[in-house]
Amino acid sequence: AIPLVVAISTALSAQRGLLIRNRTAFEQARKISAMVFDKTGTLTEGEFGVAGLRVLDPALDENTLLATAAALEQQSQHPIAQGIVREARQRKLTLPPVSDFQSLTGKGVQATVNGRQVLIVSPGYLKEHNLPLPPEAAGNQAATVVFMLVDGKVAGFLALADRIRSDAKAAVQRLQQAGIAVFMATGDNQRVADAVAQELGLNGVYAEVLPHQKVAIVQELQQKGHFVAMTGDGVNDAPALAQADVGIAVGSGTDVAAETADIILVNSRPTDITNLVELGRATYRKMM
Ligand code: ADP
Ligand code: MG
Repeated sequence: AIPLVVAISTALSAQRGLLIRNRTAFEQARKISAMVFDKTGTLTEGEFGVAGLRVLDPALDENTLLATAAALEQQSQHPIAQGIVREARQRKLTLPPVSDFQSLTGKGVQATVNGRQVLIVSPGYLKEHNLPLPPEAAGNQAATVVFMLVDGKVAGFLALADRIRSDAKAAVQRLQQAGIAVFMATGDNQRVADAVAQELGLNGVYAEVLPHQKVAIVQELQQKGHFVAMTGDGVNDAPALAQADVGIAVGSGTDVAAETADIILVNSRPTDITNLVELGRATYRKMM
């Protein structure tokens, strides 16, 4: 009778937007006591729009800043990059040629444009290199801000905004009602992370973390006795998905995340995880 119940539940799961890659994952789901979500592309849509542009170098203007940024970002797959390129296209800007492109995972991108070294990077990168945060950027509320450096000097910044997925709050609340502590781990800045955490009522938030630090967060929760699930979409989430007791990949995310995960959220809906936990608990309750 047990395999039949499992088979029925697995079929139900498929209808509910879940692809179960590891047969034990369904049974494990009912044991989850802590959930760690990635932010960008997981709790949010991962569709960034440019909300603001600021030029700090008098030799530049807004469109030159945007065209230069887009020229670099054309070569990146990151959701931030796609938002910047989309804005430049909407303004019908001509992009300058770039060479020596390099991706700085979890930090930004770098290339040579017109013989100058240009970087588009996170606030964390500025901190790491002892560059002061421009006061003009400090007032920027809950936006994801990236800075353009030209030959090592801050030349301007772009503020980008993403949307929280429509069912993210319901998912968090139902997980919490099931006794699960819900955390978020993101490479984005503290203010954006705090704004999302507050909106969703999370139990804890980790901001400005690099991929190996996401692994350490999962391990730390495991050492505290938690049975940990991790949900993410990016290349940067894959090591943490592998470390977690249950790894869940968002369907709209990267192949690397999907290949590492036990479960795939086919419709990229966070509430499908909640259904999984509730279904798992109900199924195994019936069997006892
Ligand atoms: P998350 O954990 O939210 O998915 P990532 O680890 O991918 O974030 O990125 C962390 C931060 O690094 C971003 O918020 C951004 O500041 C910076 N970053 C990463 N990739 C890029 C890029 N292509 N262009 C500009 N900034 C980037
Ligand atoms: Mg992500």
